[in-house]
Amino acid sequence: MGVSVSVLASGSRGNCAIVRSSKTSVLVDAGISCRETFKRMKACGDAPHSLCAIVLTHEHSDHVYGLAMLARKLNIPIFMTQATHHAWQRAMRDENGERPQLHKLEVFCAGHTFHIGDIEIKPFTIPHDAADPVGFTFRSEGIQVAFATDLGYIPASVRDHLRGCDVLVVESNHDVEMLRVGPYPWSVKQRVMSRVGHLSNDALAEFFASDYDGGATYVVLAHLSEQNNHPEIARGAAEKALGSRRNLLHNRVLLAAQSAPLEPIRL
Ligand SMILES: [Zn+2]
Ligand SMILES: [Zn+2]
Repeated sequence: MGVSVSVLASGSRGNCAIVRSSKTSVLVDAGISCRETFKRMKACGDAPHSLCAIVLTHEHSDHVYGLAMLARKLNIPIFMTQATHHAWQRAMRDENGERPQLHKLEVFCAGHTFHIGDIEIKPFTIPHDAADPVGFTFRSEGIQVAFATDLGYIPASVRDHLRGCDVLVVESNHDVEMLRVGPYPWSVKQRVMSRVGHLSNDALAEFFASDYDGGATYVVLAHLSEQNNHPEIARGAAEKALGSRRNLLHNRVLLAAQSAPLEPIRL
């Protein structure tokens, strides 16, 4: 069967993906409702009860919106950092001030590898305005998949983690000019553009044209802004940067979307 990746939803209205080996299936973020997650899984040919665990990148609502319900329905371990868990609990306090409980919480630390079934997972710190945000690499059956979204820029440490990947799911959030002239209030524009905001098409193109090792068979552009980007602008910037390096022409560029799942990538 091999390794596969399904991006069920991507963008500021919810993020959710599945990394699967022959034996293990992991949900990466839970940013859409439980019902919608199950619906999209079925559309991709996946049974919701095949999921073994959920791993979280950070506590922003577009990454945790469906978490409490998914945890209750599936009764599987939920992996996140301690700081992310605290921030999630604070944000989720109910009307009586009670903090929500996860019955199968598993805590990891950025930089420390852990395993879920036969998938080796390495969380790494990313620059973003959350409590303890991480990206991940997943390794199984000789295949490596990386997720790096919600980051203001790509520091050297993250560039290192993105080497040797077969699938690279990476943020291409906004076109700087569209953001600049777009409808967001100035404070929000500043936040998005900051070093702990979101990655622009240009910043990603700079990475593709310089440090990127070119090893990925599939590059998935993710977390695109619906207001401040357009899929074809993001694709154009990425393909131009990749095309500037002749050896990278075999990289296939795919676009993750908010409203519908991406066709599963099988390796
Ligand atoms: Zn975020
Ligand atoms: Zn996000």
